[in-house]
Amino acid sequence: MQRDLKLPIKVIYVEDDETILKKMTGFLQNHVKELHTAKNGKEGFDLFININPDAVITDFDMPVMDGLEMIRKIKEQRPETPIFVTTAFESDTLHLMEAIEYGITRYVCKKSKPHRLLDSIYDYFKNNERLRFFLKLSSDGKILSIGEKFAYFLGYNSKELLFEPVESLIEPIPHTHNRQFLNGLKEYRDIERVECIFRKKDGNDIVLSGSAEFSISGKEKTYVTKWHPIDSIVRTNEEIKEQLAKESYLKSLMKFHAKTSQDIIIADTIEEFFQKFIEKLPMISIETLGFLILNENLRNHETVYKFSTKLPLESLVRESIDIKDLKNEKVYLPCYLALKHNRMVFVDDISHLPDTEFKELLLTSGIVTAISIPMKIRSQNSPKGILTLLFRQNHIFDKEELDLWQNIANTVAFGIESIRAKRERDALIKKLDMMAHTDKLTGAVNRHRGIELLEHEIKRAERYGHPFSIIYFDIDHFKKINDTYGHTTGDRVLIKTTETIRKNLRATDSLIRWGGEEFLILLPQTVLCDTVHIAQKLREQIENRYADIPVPITASFGIATWEEGQSLDTLLHRADVKMYEAKKLGRNRISY
Ligand code: GH3
Ligand code: MG
Ligand code: MG
Repeated sequence: MQRDLKLPIKVIYVEDDETILKKMTGFLQNHVKELHTAKNGKEGFDLFININPDAVITDFDMPVMDGLEMIRKIKEQRPETPIFVTTAFESDTLHLMEAIEYGITRYVCKKSKPHRLLDSIYDYFKNNERLRFFLKLSSDGKILSIGEKFAYFLGYNSKELLFEPVESLIEPIPHTHNRQFLNGLKEYRDIERVECIFRKKDGNDIVLSGSAEFSISGKEKTYVTKWHPIDSIVRTNEEIKEQLAKESYLKSLMKFHAKTSQDIIIADTIEEFFQKFIEKLPMISIETLGFLILNENLRNHETVYKFSTKLPLESLVRESIDIKDLKNEKVYLPCYLALKHNRMVFVDDISHLPDTEFKELLLTSGIVTAISIPMKIRSQNSPKGILTLLFRQNHIFDKEELDLWQNIANTVAFGIESIRAKRERDALIKKLDMMAHTDKLTGAVNRHRGIELLEHEIKRAERYGHPFSIIYFDIDHFKKINDTYGHTTGDRVLIKTTETIRKNLRATDSLIRWGGEEFLILLPQTVLCDTVHIAQKLREQIENRYADIPVPITASFGIATWEEGQSLDTLLHRADVKMYEAKKLGRNRISY
């Protein structure tokens, strides 16, 4: 549509602020054929019922009945009604989500230039059937009827034109276009598409594109012709392209969502999960920048994940902020508003945000639109975190897209939760496993696990022919320590002994508490002479230490090296015999 023409539509404009109402009314009256105003939702709705408008423009925050309630009632009454919403920032951002759910046509920020609102309205009506012009001609070219809107568009009253020759609206002679139309009617009767130059009452010309159909009804032979402004065809093509781009965008979002779900299974850590999330972003067909903050760690900058290397976002979100402190202007940033209200918040024009360092950064990065989405897990009330997306184009969201993004955000929350649960479970299993295999007092391997290790070692030795040895030792006169200094001191001796032994073993060796004050050491890949050396060293270490233990501690050692074909029982028995031999020979010694 050309902007010097009034849109032939009936519009209701609802706004409670007198100044805005006056200013916008003046503006809109120049651009639409019929404008009616109302000061609140109730007046607006009553007017809607009475005059049945082509479109409604409304504010949200109004007395008596607010905009949201009016929108709901209008949509109930006539769902196809186009509704254009003007929004202030802050509180309205929250209502906007609901309004989108109700199916509003467009939203425009109040602080935007009035032309933006008008563009949205033109955009909506540009291909609307209502704007198609209708003209019926007799077979000799007289006007039999003309659509009221068409007549109005050309500056006439429809009755004025009745039975006038069509040449009074077009000029046949100088324009080949017009000749083509008139000749076309005579020759072909049906014309699929033709351009024609119409002359308005004020003398201005306008090219319209149209079609004609010949019809006979009884004696009457007529041409029914339909016209529309030429630029609407160009626009239709553009619109198809836009629609295709939109569809491919939504499709890429769905794919992105599916891949994100898969990553929950693949990723071992939350960091890895986010890394994959960031790496996959280029899959989305519209450049999407953004960042993500985790709720429980808002104070920790490490949990801010930015999606674009082009934006140094961490420095700005690093500090902690109290989202209830209204004096801090940062609380009006969409990410904090979303966190505070636990709902999606978006700003269609960043420049309307309160001035902050953050806003500056976004503006210098060419960001126009931002949306913050709480990442929710159904069973939990507070969000896991906030996903914020940033767009360089003015991005108009609709319900379908918002639903997709919300699903993605929820999947991220589910991912965080699942990966954390998986890690906790793994840690627990590891701990339980440790507990099941460890002696509580000394931390040495317990006898049950010790037997498993020994059996496993025999199998290995049998298969690969590797040697291995065991040292079996028993603390000397331990009963006396208990009896003289008490059980607690006895326990301390056991703990200290274990520590001493551990310090002197290799990582591949195992220290097993066999029972009471008896221990067994498993030494894989160790032949007899090396084992004797190790045992000797351990004996000395035990004898030399513990300033805090009142008596000298010693132990007696029995050594056995596994021989091919030998069972575990036989091996253990051999070590046991040797240990008793050491005891008999006077204790604090080794025997092999
Ligand atoms: P020997 O030199 O012949 O080995 O004499 P011993 O006194 O060390 O041997 P005996 O088997 O007579 O005594 C072992 C003592 O170890 C008996 C038991 O009360 C004590 N004991 C076993 N387990 C623990 C424990 O976990 N803590 C403490 N404090 N004592 C323990
Ligand atoms: Mg003993
Ligand atoms: Mg003993």
